[in-house]
Amino acid sequence: MNALPLKPGAILGVLGGGQLGRMWSHAAQSLGYRTAVLDPDATSPAGLVSHAHIQTAYLDPQGLAQMASLCQAVTTEFENVPAEALVQLQAHMPVAPGPSAVRVAQDRALEKAHFVRCGVPVAPHQMIHNAAELAQVPDDLLPGILKTTRLGYDGKGQARVSTRDELTAAFAQLQNADHAVVCILEKRLPLAAECSVVLARGHNGHCVHLPLQTNLHRDGILAVTEVFAAALPAATEALAIQSACNIARRLDYAGVLCVEFFLLQEGPERQALGPLVVNEIAPRPHNSGHHSIDSCDLSQFELQVRCMAGLPLTMPRLHSPCVMLNLLGDLWLRRGDKPLEPDWAQVLALPGTNLHLYGKIYARRGRKMGHLTVTAAGIAQARQTALQAADVLGIAPW
Ligand code: ATP
Ligand code: MG
Repeated sequence: MNALPLKPGAILGVLGGGQLGRMWSHAAQSLGYRTAVLDPDATSPAGLVSHAHIQTAYLDPQGLAQMASLCQAVTTEFENVPAEALVQLQAHMPVAPGPSAVRVAQDRALEKAHFVRCGVPVAPHQMIHNAAELAQVPDDLLPGILKTTRLGYDGKGQARVSTRDELTAAFAQLQNADHAVVCILEKRLPLAAECSVVLARGHNGHCVHLPLQTNLHRDGILAVTEVFAAALPAATEALAIQSACNIARRLDYAGVLCVEFFLLQEGPERQALGPLVVNEIAPRPHNSGHHSIDSCDLSQFELQVRCMAGLPLTMPRLHSPCVMLNLLGDLWLRRGDKPLEPDWAQVLALPGTNLHLYGKIYARRGRKMGHLTVTAAGIAQARQTALQAADVLGIAPW
């Protein structure tokens, strides 16, 4: 096994070649490492900027053997990379996060059970494996959200249901032609806000975190993240951070982890569950942490590199309040179906804007094409500029 810390020049690997891998690759390269990406797509955003792109399926024996011989450490950026690929690579090099933690994050049932073990409140829920269990769902879980336990993202693989008939129809809809799909029904909670904590935990157990982020979703996809001091009451913020670190510690987690939370409105649910409910974890850098490239002294991507390479983790400091806007393919398709490049010059004329485009060739509705971070001396100014940028781009105000 390679001795940590890894020296500059070493090759760090990532399973998955999306935008997270691309920004991770940039961070690794700025610390003097070389990067290798395993992704079947010839035009993957990370493959385009890495020293090596192994273009095979994630479980392809030759692809994994090549990764094993090239890399001195490996991570994943794509949640649904088979944990088995990490198991195989772990025999050759340090892997962060490890396969057992990734397995938990890939399955909402294992994930919820872990949160419960950690004593962090979760939405009332029930697993549904078949029609018999569907019939036994208690009434008080409705209205609810039915989610597949595996392979969901950006609101895909879930349906909002208000009645038993809708629940039955949605369960049938989520089934696959050739195999049964396990689902989980969650009670729909009245949300006051959503927030997330991105943390990094070293192989030695040392844990640091980005400042708490507040997130606005539209159609199940993150639309806007805001980060500034005292966004939430200090006690709530401390509870979120403490819960996130606890969730990571009890997974014996190594690497960057995002923990998503719901903040509940006043009412019976909040009285029963408390102000903060954990939603899910992502075993990787997260969209809500992208701002850190421009707003913090240490980005979530550099944190991932430091974890992998066994370098020290210091507590990131937010030097500028910020607003991050996700740039979805819809912005390219505002005038009919022929893609049209948004007017970036007009956006970049606004002070404090940092544009990140992921090099994706085709714009599709809902596809994450890039993000814009707006920093300023105060959150009011950042918000005002972000609203101006949103107006130019055709993003609805929030
Ligand atoms: P991601 O892109 O974060 O992986 P996802 O597809 O895994 O998303 P969730 O995070 O489970 O899905 O849900 C997406 C959004 O739907 C949440 O951010 C929240 O706005 C809403 N939502 C999910 N579950 C609930 C719930 N139990 N009560 C109220 N709103 C919910
Ligand atoms: Mg989510």
